Amino acid sequence: MTDDVPKTETEWKGCLTPEQFRVLREHGTERAFTSPLDGEKRQGTFRCAGCGLDLFSSEAKFNSGTGWPSFFAPIAEDAVATTEDNSYGMRRVEVHCRRCGGHLGHVFPDGPKPTGLRYCMNGVSLTFEPKEG
Ligand code: FE
Repeated sequence: MTDDVPKTETEWKGCLTPEQFRVLREHGTERAFTSPLDGEKRQGTFRCAGCGLDLFSSEAKFNSGTGWPSFFAPIAEDAVATTEDNSYGMRRVEVHCRRCGGHLGHVFPDGPKPTGLRYCMNGVSLTFEPKEG
């Protein structure tokens, strides 16, 4: 991945799978328990599937039981950004990649310590890079 982030829909379609495009660019949600990253237990880094930015560390990953990869914090304060999402008659906080704006999932205030937050992510929005060694 380079720092060149696609800008147009056509460019995005050219570098994402249809499911990645649906979730990242159209605010879709993958079906629960379908992502192999939900059960990923190795040490490593979860990156944005759109632009490659480091988003979450395995050290903040926990099993939420929801069927979506869950973290109690992003890898850095400026890795993700949030916006209010009032779709489907719910008040939720949407989480997106700070660099490419790709939709990642939502964050809820019912997570474990130390933050009490639950970043509920679509696995299809992420790639996993296992730690070397
Ligand atoms: Fe991104």
